[in-house]
Amino acid sequence: TIAMAVIDTMGHIAAGTSTNGATFKIPGRVGDGPIAGSSAYADAEVGACGATGDGDIMMRFLPCYQVVESMRRGMQPELAAKDAISRIANKYPDFTGAVFAVNKDGAHAGACHGWTFQYSVRNPGMDDVEVFTVLP
Ligand code: ASP
Repeated sequence: TIAMAVIDTMGHIAAGTSTNGATFKIPGRVGDGPIAGSSAYADAEVGACGATGDGDIMMRFLPCYQVVESMRRGMQPELAAKDAISRIANKYPDFTGAVFAVNKDGAHAGACHGWTFQYSVRNPGMDDVEVFTVLP
């Protein structure tokens, strides 16, 4: 899965995701990719989130919607990301997955469970893409 969030110079925020679906591919599967709030969500008043992992489990929690709503209520991206992952892990301790969170000011963080997660960031103040590694 590739999930991405973009903030433009006007403050518009967009998020989206693609999935190769290979891991869980069965005929007719929809998966979490097209479910708004599951693998991606954005609100320009708040920020955005993207997710990857066991989609059939994660989609039950709308983790990206959860992250954005937590940030709306004042959580910083790191806590919002950890909280969303914890909610899933509490019910499904064996799931693997991750989210990244970015607020409208560009502050970002990731959280993961069951694997090490990496996400990339680029903004106008950076010369190149920077890769961030998040440990479970
Ligand atoms: N979430 C994707 C799916 O369940 C898989 C992935 O993130 O790699 O289809």
